[in-house]
Amino acid sequence: MTDVLPDTTLSPVPTERRVVTAIPGPKSIALQARRQAVVSAGVSSALPVYITRAHGAILVDVDDNAFLDLGAGIGVTTIGHTDDAVVAAAREQLGDVVHTLFTITPYEEYVRVAELLAEHTPGDFAKKSVLVNSGAEAVENGVKIARKYTGRNGVAVLEHAYHGRTNLTMAMNFKAMPYSLGFGPFAGDVYRAPNSYPLHDGLTGAQAAARTIGYLEKTVGASDLACLVVEPIQGEGGFVVPAEGYLPALQEWCTANGIVFIADEIQSGMARTGRYFASEHFGLVPDLVLSAKGIAGGLPLAGVTGRAEIMDASQPGGLGGTFGGNPVACAAAIAVFDRIEHDGLLAEATRIERSLKSALLELQKAYPIIAEVRGIGAMLAIEFTDPATQAPLAEVPGRIAAFAAQQGVLLLTAGTYGNVIRFLPSLAISDAQLADAVTVLDAALASL
Ligand SMILES: *Cc1c(COP(=O)(O)O)cnc(C)c1O
Repeated sequence: MTDVLPDTTLSPVPTERRVVTAIPGPKSIALQARRQAVVSAGVSSALPVYITRAHGAILVDVDDNAFLDLGAGIGVTTIGHTDDAVVAAAREQLGDVVHTLFTITPYEEYVRVAELLAEHTPGDFAKKSVLVNSGAEAVENGVKIARKYTGRNGVAVLEHAYHGRTNLTMAMNFKAMPYSLGFGPFAGDVYRAPNSYPLHDGLTGAQAAARTIGYLEKTVGASDLACLVVEPIQGEGGFVVPAEGYLPALQEWCTANGIVFIADEIQSGMARTGRYFASEHFGLVPDLVLSAKGIAGGLPLAGVTGRAEIMDASQPGGLGGTFGGNPVACAAAIAVFDRIEHDGLLAEATRIERSLKSALLELQKAYPIIAEVRGIGAMLAIEFTDPATQAPLAEVPGRIAAFAAQQGVLLLTAGTYGNVIRFLPSLAISDAQLADAVTVLDAALASL
């Protein structure tokens, strides 16, 4: 069974893309055949090249192709693949203690992560956290905590939202395909309101907020809502940045009506946008902040962090789980916070915005199907529409991603209509690597 595995004495991970076979190469094709026999068809892969090693912004596959990675595992390896500090911290922790279960016998690393989250999430008040394993689990816990605190049931979400693949979060997602189709029955008491999507609704933040609030007051009633869950910049929905003033107006309404405002910062948080959390760009101080993806350098960890009085409303034993806040994942998260704080990584996200956004705006001049270039920091996107009709061009991102993959550049698509390419590079990507990726994107656009 080892015949398709690579020689482990191969050269170190390169810093440039390198395509040495057709994509996918023969060893990846062989692995894909093995996978199809034993891995559920319900688990898909955007680009079935099997990765053996990674560092910085580069992924190396079994056929020794090197890909310039503009997705970072959907914004997870935010500080770079196999970041040296993360690897060292996790290695050391592996040798000390791997598991005790925090709810049986605790350990310092969990407490330290909670301290760091309290320090770096928005808001100058006492905060507490619970640590879990995945983003969806953080969303589930955020809702549980808000319900317990308010004694209410209703959960408000926005159009184009994505919150996960568990039962409750399926009901909170906007898109049925592929996330929920056929997987019901779904959780009740979830109410979906219109969002702010400046490119398409043309509304100011105040107008869009009035629409969202009016909708929720009519269809649910504020007094029945436990929480409003909002991605400050929508992720899977296509990096939708709300109009100015929209989010603060929602927060004000939540506060006035005793509704817990929950920011799902699972994709937008942890230095992704040049601040620790994207909420900061909008002057938002959420009651609860959900973090996951980028928090632990690739290890599975997620958290709910928020106002102490809300977090403490749950009875002892009501929150937790076997693997939640695993010591190795916590050690990695501590290293991630340390790197962001002491190595100026917030500025790296801003550098990436400066260099990539200007290049994308140049492309927009040449290709009128690019309706908008948007995003903040290292969370940027381009949306494709028909210039004549404004209809979404759903097939374009897939064709561009396929072209780029053949050239050794990994691009991710997004958007309710699939007509968005999102850029989520690691903060370790250099300007030269970004410029190289843009030349491939340009060629892909020209090939359409
Ligand atoms: C990825 C994501 C989730 C779900 O996280 P998982 O770890 O995949 O469960 C929830 N919310 C947002 C905004 C996400 O991007």
